[in-house]
Amino acid sequence: MTRALYRFVEYKAVQDPTGELSWSAVCVSGDEADCGESSGEMDEEKAVRWMAEHTRDTGHTRFRRTFGDYAIITPKE
Ligand SMILES: [Zn+2]
Repeated sequence: MTRALYRFVEYKAVQDPTGELSWSAVCVSGDEADCGESSGEMDEEKAVRWMAEHTRDTGHTRFRRTFGDYAIITPKE
């Protein structure tokens, strides 16, 4: 009978500085159903501008924001 030996290694996630950061916003305003209009992925400044313009055009004020980055996993020392 063989026994596998698993060494427990702890890992940490660090943000990859070469990875592009992205934001997206989806309009969740609406009484019965969400508006659902989506900005797509863009940088933070553009995402804020997109939301402001959507609010100006529609009166909608509530959004679900998503932030994306890249992470590198390395063993903890
Ligand atoms: Zn909307």
